[in-house]
This record gives sequence, C-alpha cells and structure tokens, in this order.
Amino acid sequence: MTRIAVIGAGLSGLVFANTLGDAAQIRLFEKSRGYGGRMATRRHEGFQFDHGAQFFTARSKSFQSFLEPCLEAGVVTRWDARFVEIDSDGISGRRIWNGEHPHYVGVPGMNALGRVLGEKLDIVLDTPVDKICGEAGDWRLHDLEGRDLGRFDWVVTSVPAGQVAALMPVEFSHLGAVEGCSMPGCYALMLGFSEPLSLEWDAALVRNGAISWISVDNSKPGRVDGTSLLVQSSNQWAEANMNRTDRYVVSQLMVETSRVTGQDFSRAEHIALHRWRYANPGQRRGARSLIDSRQRLAAIGDWCIRGRVESAFQSGVDAARRMRSLV
Ligand SMILES: Cc1cc2nc3c(=O)[nH]c(=O)nc-3n(C[C@H](O)[C@H](O)[C@H](O)COP(=O)(O)OP(=O)(O)OC[C@H]3O[C@@H](n4cnc5c(N)ncnc54)[C@H](O)[C@@H]3O)c2cc1C
Repeated sequence: MTRIAVIGAGLSGLVFANTLGDAAQIRLFEKSRGYGGRMATRRHEGFQFDHGAQFFTARSKSFQSFLEPCLEAGVVTRWDARFVEIDSDGISGRRIWNGEHPHYVGVPGMNALGRVLGEKLDIVLDTPVDKICGEAGDWRLHDLEGRDLGRFDWVVTSVPAGQVAALMPVEFSHLGAVEGCSMPGCYALMLGFSEPLSLEWDAALVRNGAISWISVDNSKPGRVDGTSLLVQSSNQWAEANMNRTDRYVVSQLMVETSRVTGQDFSRAEHIALHRWRYANPGQRRGARSLIDSRQRLAAIGDWCIRGRVESAFQSGVDAARRMRSLV
C-alpha cells in the first residue's frame, strides 16, 4: 500500500486521513500534545475556553452531511447565542442565532470534533517535523533533533501557509501559490471570573478597534459552569503588536475589553493569553488543495480557500478525492 505522511493533525489533515484511509497507509505527525489544531480548547480550574475557532457554519451540502452523525452523537451542537455587533458608538445590532443559519460548536469543547476524527488514525503526537528530504516516492521526514521519522511515498502538509514554504522541498511546484498567501495573527485573552457577568449577550462582534470578538464561553452548550470570557484581538492589532510582551498585550486588551463593554474586568481571577502566529487567512481563489503528482507532494489547509473550519474540511476532502487515483 502507498505510504503517506501527513504533517499536522488539524481538521484538514484529520479529514484527509479519514477520507483516504481505505486506499493508503497514512501516518500523521503533530507537533502538539493533542490534535484538532486551531479548533482548540483550554481548561483551567473550572474555566474553559475555545481559544481558536469560536463556532462554525456549514454552507455546503458535503459539510452538512459530514456533520450529521456528529450532531446525532452530540459531539457537535448548535449554539443559539444572543449575538450583538458593537461599533464605536456601542451596540449597533442584535439577534439570536437559530436553526435558520445554524452556528455550531464542538461539545464539550471545540476540540471534540478533532478528538473523534483522530480516534482511529495513526497519529504521532509531540513531534514537530522539521525537514522533508529525499525524492518523489522516497521522502524521508526528520524532527527538530534530526531523528528519522520514516520513509514515505507521498508527503501532505496540512500546516498553516506560512509554515509550508519552510517545510516543503524546493521541488514542490506550488510553492509560489503558497507564498502569496498571508495569514495574519491573533491574540486570544482568556478571563475567568468567580461570579457571573452582567452582560446581555453571549457573543459580540466588535468593529474598529484592538478587539474583534468577545464571547461568554460558558454560554456554549455542554460547558463547565465557571464564567469564562474569551476575547480576541483584531488581526491588524495582533500584527502590529506581535513582538510585544504578554504583559503588555494582556494589559492593553483588558483595558480595551472594559472600554468596549463598559465593565471593569480587572477583577478576573484567571488570566491567560494565547498568541496565534498564523490565525486567519483571507479568501483565496484557485484549487482547494495543491497537489504535485510528479513530486508526490501536496499541501492542504483552510488557507487554500478561506480561514474557516468548513474550508479546512473542504480542502482535506478535495485532496483525498483527487489523490485517490494517484496512490
Ligand atoms: C483565533 C481564531 C479564531 C477563529 N475563529 C473561527 C471561527 O469562528 N469560525 C471558523 O469557521 N473558523 C475560525 N477560525 C479558523 C479555523 O480554526 C481554521 O480554519 C481551521 O481550524 C484550520 O484547520 P487546518 O487543519 O487547516 O489548520 P490547523 O488547525 O492550523 O492545523 C494545522 C496543524 O499542524 C500542526 N503543525 C504545524 N506545523 C507543524 C510541524 N512542523 N510538524 C507537525 N505538526 C505541525 C499544528 O500544531 C496544527 O495542529 C479561527 C482561527 C483562529 C486562530
């Protein structure tokens, strides 16, 4: 059977491996301790935060069908949030999300979907791949210490675009397309409180400032009770402040959160920050996955389409479908 290495076990890599797993021997390498990538959840003493993707929508029939068994099993559910839009003059719009345009979350955390998808796969965790050496049909992977991670016929990267160029051999014919793809960063500020907050909403899209999103994460279904507020910076602010200290970023985002909501959040009993170096790619036109059949190399990920959970799914499925006749 053809041996395929997938670098990265975010949604695109997991979907790819599940879709093509009957036709090839697939091993995934993931640098983190768990899988799911940017569909991430962090817990701390009674608080719980989805510090990457907040929710996702399903516009395509294929993603809707894929989600059906997950919805039945309760791994994914609808989040009918009280949603507001906030601009410079305060709240400018309000609505309650409902079944007409469903907004989904993983249960009990956003990482649940990845966990289920990874259950039956061959995944090597805690293993950042540093180099791909060799030639088409005989690729060898190495980790940061130069350890040999095995030989493979094909290598598929499912990492953010900014990391593809550093990993892929120069022979990869789609490098130009990857390099043109920007993925601005984002900060996620996690605040835990000993008491409920007096906010009239669960989720807020914030415009024109350092902050782009605030959600009361314990309002999502199936969460722990601890009052958990998740604040995301805007991509522009993150890019301008990417090399600042955590202390600076936390203090700025706290001040801004209090200003936007009109409440003092300095009483938070838990404060943590996560820096996403590569967070949200813009829209990209072209193939949903980049496959070089001569070199037996491929690159997938949300950035092939757009920074959305659904796009990561579509990219993984597209590559699996096109590679089926090649492996
Ligand atoms: C702050 C934030 C908010 C978001 N909000 C939303 C939202 O509300 N709705 C929505 O639809 N989408 C949202 N997204 C986007 C969504 O999370 C992504 O579109 C989707 O999760 C991308 O999946 P992926 O598989 O393409 O990439 P990733 O999830 O990034 O997976 C890549 C994987 O590769 C691993 N990796 C990287 N380099 C290496 C290496 N050298 N060796 C081994 N492993 C490696 C990483 O650890 C990661 O697990 C958000 C993202 C962020 C960061």
